[in-house]
Amino acid sequence: MESSQHQRRGGGFVSLSPSQTPRSNDKPVRDLRSGDSNSSSKHDKDKGVNVQVILRCRPLSAEEMRIHTPVVISCNESRREVCAVQNIANKQIDRTFLFDKVFGPSSQQKELFELAVSPIVNEVLEGYNCTIFAYGQTGTGKTYTMEGGARKKNGEFPSDAGVIPRAVKQIFDILEAQSAEYSMKVTFLELYNEEITDLLAPEETTKFIDDKSKKPIALMEDGKGGVFVRGLEEELVTTANEIYKILEKGSAKRRTAETLLNKQSSRSHSIFSITIHIKECTPEGEEMIKCGKLNLVDLAGSENISRSGAREGRAREAGEINKSLLTLGRVINALVEHSGHVPYRDSKLTRLLRDSLGGKTKTCIIATVSPSIHCLEETLSTLDYAHRAKNIKNKPEINQKMMKSALIKDLYSEIDRLRQEVYAAREKNGIYIPRDRYLHDEAEKKAMAEKIERMELVSESKEKQITEVQELYNSQQMLTADLSEKLGKTEKKLEETENALFDLEDKHRQANATIKEKEFLISNLLKSGELKYDLRKHLLSVLLNSEKSLKMLLQTSQICLARSKGRIKLRMEIKHLSRSSSPS
Ligand code: ADP
Ligand code: MG
Repeated sequence: MESSQHQRRGGGFVSLSPSQTPRSNDKPVRDLRSGDSNSSSKHDKDKGVNVQVILRCRPLSAEEMRIHTPVVISCNESRREVCAVQNIANKQIDRTFLFDKVFGPSSQQKELFELAVSPIVNEVLEGYNCTIFAYGQTGTGKTYTMEGGARKKNGEFPSDAGVIPRAVKQIFDILEAQSAEYSMKVTFLELYNEEITDLLAPEETTKFIDDKSKKPIALMEDGKGGVFVRGLEEELVTTANEIYKILEKGSAKRRTAETLLNKQSSRSHSIFSITIHIKECTPEGEEMIKCGKLNLVDLAGSENISRSGAREGRAREAGEINKSLLTLGRVINALVEHSGHVPYRDSKLTRLLRDSLGGKTKTCIIATVSPSIHCLEETLSTLDYAHRAKNIKNKPEINQKMMKSALIKDLYSEIDRLRQEVYAAREKNGIYIPRDRYLHDEAEKKAMAEKIERMELVSESKEKQITEVQELYNSQQMLTADLSEKLGKTEKKLEETENALFDLEDKHRQANATIKEKEFLISNLLKSGELKYDLRKHLLSVLLNSEKSLKMLLQTSQICLARSKGRIKLRMEIKHLSRSSSPS
């Protein structure tokens, strides 16, 4: 149960004293959906529209009547009031709650539909998104209200048909009467233990309804702040009668588990959605598509889980159901108290139905209670909860109409995508490969990637080596050019030196001839005795000296020549060496 503080602030009601019943505190609530088509006016858009809350009390069951179960709930439909009688310490305390509409134990399915749901269906046909929640303790008539009793064998529309088949019938009746062009699709999902199951998914290999045929599916963000259920089966409905087959198919799949409280109690939430596309023509003759959606939510039993005898293995299940239901309660509190952060993301139920709580959707809550004294505690909890939810304000907006051509384009690309998926599945040439091969391929891919990485490293180091060798080659080339130039110069010098030597040898030869000539002259003179001995001696020494100088000069020239030749040889060798070391 919620704390009394919340109740005081949220609903303006907690007192147990009859003098402070909610009626005395409550301002009259405007009936927002009583068929007044102006209800969605500008005013609504600016200020928001309150969530409409309807209270339905079921009759006592045959068994309850047989054992004379005391009744503690009384309904005043015309005053829209529900009164709970409570005895505390021998004092009778009445608590009265005011709702948008109240349906007592004798109310019929048809009546509830026509007064409360039919106007909502009309709004769906106008292009709004609408959501109807059924909230209450297990066994109080949520599923009865939403789906209704079983179909009659002769195919007649049963009198205990619930909201879903009646809504579908109304949609068909209206659109057929208008001879409108339209299409209607339905989805049916179950949220159990924070897992989504498609209740319309085709049965797989097993013929029996077991856990395998209820594959959990993913909730995806649509990138526009909303969420969608990926791969959810959408069934096209063409007649109102078809809806029974769909409901039966889905309901049979719904998970139920036995607890001490109620053998048919359901711990799962189910969401039945109807989407309608209607073709319209603008005055300019352009074809537009109007879209409306109706979500019908049958919530899990609101009873306190500790009283249901949930134990051990069931504890997690109980906890997870509480998670979605508790989050729903917290979201409602946050919205009512304008407390800033609204914890939509804390459960799948609130993520899925985010737009229905404080968003652009028109929302209605049908709270169901039992009149029995044995359910009083839960009934009071439901009444408090529902009463508080009345204060949630939504800002309904009509869905934007789409151009038919744009819609067709979208549908074509969708068909294309699906066709490819079907093809891949059938031909097994898409992602459908045997698991072993997939694993092998993956391992191979990994090994290849590693190999590529290794090779890249090797090639990197090789490239580095190549650049080093290239640099070495370049510097060698420069050195060779330098040496060739020097060699050229040396060769030129050698030539000059050789020429000089040749000149010197020539001169040497001439000098020798001159000496011989002089010696001949001197010997002649000596013979003639005209020259004195010392003069002869002097002349001889002069001659000897010049011969010595000439010899030295010759020797020096020869050394020079030898050195030049040695250098040339050395350079030739260097040139040869650098040619053989350079890369080709
Ligand atoms: P819930 O879904 O809340 O657990 P059900 O819809 O299964 O409860 O209802 C429990 C039982 O009470 C069913 O047998 C159902 O036919 C019966 N019941 C519930 N509401 C009404 C009603 N308004 N009139 C007649 N029978 C009802
Ligand atoms: Mg139920």
